[in-house]
Amino acid sequence: MTEKTDSKKTVSGNNTNAEKCKSAGRGKATRTESLRARRKRACEIVERLKAEYPDTHCTLAYDEAWKLLVSVRLAAQCTDARVDQITPVLYEHFPTIEAIAEAPEDDIEAIVRPCGLGRSKARDIKACMTMLRDEYGCRVPDTMEALLKLPGVGRKSANLVLGDIYGKHAIVTDTHCIRLANRMGLVDDERDPHKVEKKLWEIIPPEESNDFCHRMVDHGRAVCTARTAKPNCDACCIADICPKRV
Ligand code: SF4
Repeated sequence: MTEKTDSKKTVSGNNTNAEKCKSAGRGKATRTESLRARRKRACEIVERLKAEYPDTHCTLAYDEAWKLLVSVRLAAQCTDARVDQITPVLYEHFPTIEAIAEAPEDDIEAIVRPCGLGRSKARDIKACMTMLRDEYGCRVPDTMEALLKLPGVGRKSANLVLGDIYGKHAIVTDTHCIRLANRMGLVDDERDPHKVEKKLWEIIPPEESNDFCHRMVDHGRAVCTARTAKPNCDACCIADICPKRV
């Protein structure tokens, strides 16, 4: 599959899905909600978030697939904004996969240190680029199995690459997604990223999965925030179908 090199994505309309959601129940979710009812409610949430955040995309800046891998590793316990400040400096010194693979780990660490966990991030990034160079001909692989073999790449990162680079169905369970999925009653008291991912696969239309997760980040930043004790439910587009498990 062809790599996409632009992180900005446009949203294609999906009337079929919208029509499916017309019959979505407006009742509040309960912990005994049936899978069928939860699917309908999830479908309605997908449509409302799509209307609210039509032009969603990954907030990490990158113009090549391997740079997304670098950014997502740096983003662990760091803000995307900080990562987007640091990566141009890194690429100014080491502009290619080969350059990072050959760079002294200390030099990489000195640059990425402001993102936190500098030593381990530098080690993973260098090792990851070395493996891309030596085993994949400097091409980012397009399967979950191969991506998970890359140093520092977990399911969240792999799903982000599969969805944003290769246009595959993908559910990225970052902290926003996990927090909102619980508050919205799409999962029940579940914090484990892989378990949340599996639960969301059961109820989110696959073709909506990747952009849905980006929109969960958008909504988590704009309305259903983690910082305030109380999210802004009065301004929320799904308030009437959300159990508000805050
Ligand atoms: S802001 Fe309130 S109503 Fe909206 S998703 Fe968060 S908890 Fe639910």
